[in-house]
Amino acid sequence: MKIKLRQEELLCSNCGKPRTFYYLSDYSYGERLVLINHGTGYAYMNMIEDAVYDEFSVLLKCILNERSIVLAQSDFAEVLNSLFGIACDNIDGVPIDFLYNVGKCLSCGSVKFDSELIDAEKIAEVDLPVITHESWNLLNDEEKRNAIKDLLDKFKSARN
Ligand SMILES: [Zn+2]
Repeated sequence: MKIKLRQEELLCSNCGKPRTFYYLSDYSYGERLVLINHGTGYAYMNMIEDAVYDEFSVLLKCILNERSIVLAQSDFAEVLNSLFGIACDNIDGVPIDFLYNVGKCLSCGSVKFDSELIDAEKIAEVDLPVITHESWNLLNDEEKRNAIKDLLDKFKSARN
């Protein structure tokens, strides 16, 4: 999908190669750029128009309710972010991780960049993959609930 983004170029602090970073405009409520492919690319998601995001959020709330787990809004958002990748199709063979938030240098893999821009910030039209849910949508409600429960258990034991 073609989308207008703010574009910044920064130099990698390690190898000195430039890397382009993209950001949504400040008025893009409910939209999100998701880092994919271990931080080397971006995908686009509209959380308001994405029916699966909504459905997932409702299922997760039900499961938490059944377990008498009450979470603050921000904690709920974090859990949702940690789990939601399971409902998304891989892009270029790599699963989506919504918690991943560091852009990597495409040459050396470093995540450190100089703070000075190479150039003034620009607006660019970029063609990005959109987050899709084809595999997830093949599951019935029961299977979806079980998948979320399993992951929630793993998530909890990873944190304890
Ligand atoms: Zn580098």
